[in-house]
Amino acid sequence: MIQKFLISLGITALVSGLIAALFVTHWILVFLLAFVVQVMAFYIGNTIYENRTLLKAEQIRIEQLKEAVKQVALVECPCGQKNRQDVIVRFDENVTYKCSECNKTIKLDIDIKPVLTTEPIYTQK
Ligand SMILES: [Zn+2]
Repeated sequence: MIQKFLISLGITALVSGLIAALFVTHWILVFLLAFVVQVMAFYIGNTIYENRTLLKAEQIRIEQLKEAVKQVALVECPCGQKNRQDVIVRFDENVTYKCSECNKTIKLDIDIKPVLTTEPIYTQK
């Protein structure tokens, strides 16, 4: 870690030195200026890269959540051709799909029915 930092510092100083060598009269000023500019450029570059990585991770997480809430149901088209196909079911918006047989746009009407359940009675003799 500290070795990496020293190497990076050495390279930055070397580049600053090369730029400063072009200006013989004010070389110390040019050296310091080149050094500061490089450090600032690295910092800005790193910050942009970090933000992009975070944004990408967040987008992947949202995609995963979208995939996780997808429910698929096998439905029969009301066109009469008895075509059955898988449709993604959602409760938060209207669901429409195209029938692969008649090519018509079909709206999915979700109907939830509560039914009584019967509990089996076990009798022991
Ligand atoms: Zn159809």
